[in-house]
Amino acid sequence: MEHPIYMDCASTTKPAPEVVKAIQPYLTTEYGNPSSLYEFGFSAKSAVEHAREQCASLINADPENIIFTSGATESDNQALVTLSEYMDKHYNKSGIITSQIEHPAILNTCKYLENHHRIISYLLVDKYGFVNLEQFENTIGGLTGVVSIMLANNECGTIEPIEEIAKIVHDNHAILHVDATQGYGNIPIDVKAMGIDALSSSSHKINGLLGTGLLYLDKSKFSDIEPFIHGGAQERGYRCGTENVIGDVAFGVASELRQKHMQEIIAHNTQLRDYLFTELLKIDGCHINGVNPLDGDNRRLSNNVNVRFDGVDGYRLQALLAESGICVSNASACHSGVKSPSHVLKALGLSDDEANSSLRLTVDSNNTLAECEYVVKMIKYYVSVLRLQ
Ligand code: PLP
Repeated sequence: MEHPIYMDCASTTKPAPEVVKAIQPYLTTEYGNPSSLYEFGFSAKSAVEHAREQCASLINADPENIIFTSGATESDNQALVTLSEYMDKHYNKSGIITSQIEHPAILNTCKYLENHHRIISYLLVDKYGFVNLEQFENTIGGLTGVVSIMLANNECGTIEPIEEIAKIVHDNHAILHVDATQGYGNIPIDVKAMGIDALSSSSHKINGLLGTGLLYLDKSKFSDIEPFIHGGAQERGYRCGTENVIGDVAFGVASELRQKHMQEIIAHNTQLRDYLFTELLKIDGCHINGVNPLDGDNRRLSNNVNVRFDGVDGYRLQALLAESGICVSNASACHSGVKSPSHVLKALGLSDDEANSSLRLTVDSNNTLAECEYVVKMIKYYVSVLRLQ
């Protein structure tokens, strides 16, 4: 068995060989600035525009509505700050609704906005991680400007009912932003059919490169939105600064690969996920966190496994697996190193001990069934070792 075995694809993924090949010219000969008015510049510019089309195509967006960013964290910041400013300025709607299980990129931006005269409501979720739609309908109202709900959760993999949420949002003349960082390229997305006004995603979650993301913004709805980063005219003046040509090209190629192979990717990941769940649940005192796909419920990301083991410290389990060359997570990567129970698992109703006894395994096309068999064997062994201590 080759090491390390990498099963932490919700954190980041290995760049696809096609991505590595496609960026080579931009690392060597094609180093122009897309704003320059000579051939070097024109070819860089056309590479960025092609990448924009590839990303747009994956989510059925118009390319002019795609803004490249430095990652989903920036996209989330941009969306909440500029859209809430816009809704407040034009419609006196200063309220924002989000959920308790959002990524810190959303939750900490909300905290910042709370100190800048926005009123934030945090929706509860049920034991599977689904937002409480009844509470949502009771909360949304005339003062709600922006609603931000994630497409799929990064820890428990729960896929939220975005179409239903969009209908409620639009019935109340508000705007829907969706953090689709974990769903983009892993489940089909059609921003038009789903009623999504703004969407964040990130290249490094889909075998692209670290440090590139996008914000989809339906600009037909927001005519004079303020730029988030002021400067020159890049990204149509909305997000200024010389483009990350290499990152954008990588994101375009990674998106096209996901679009071409989505059904195969889902089928492959589902097979591994269901094998892992089936085998891990045979261990005494092992429980699923979130939706159980073995019951036929497909509202869970096909690449996400999150389980807990009674009486086991998930941090120690993760560390022992790491020593054996197995890369998994005991919470989301953004919490790694900070020993506090996951806010997502707590929102699902788990106690501190239950949340701290959890382990997340997230796979992609690079993983094999043989790796899963080995990982299950090692988890079984270390769970029994930790229970003896
Ligand atoms: N939103 C979600 C749901 C995520 O899972 C992540 C990263 O794990 C982010 C936002 C932040 O993405 P990035 O690493 O591109 O800033």
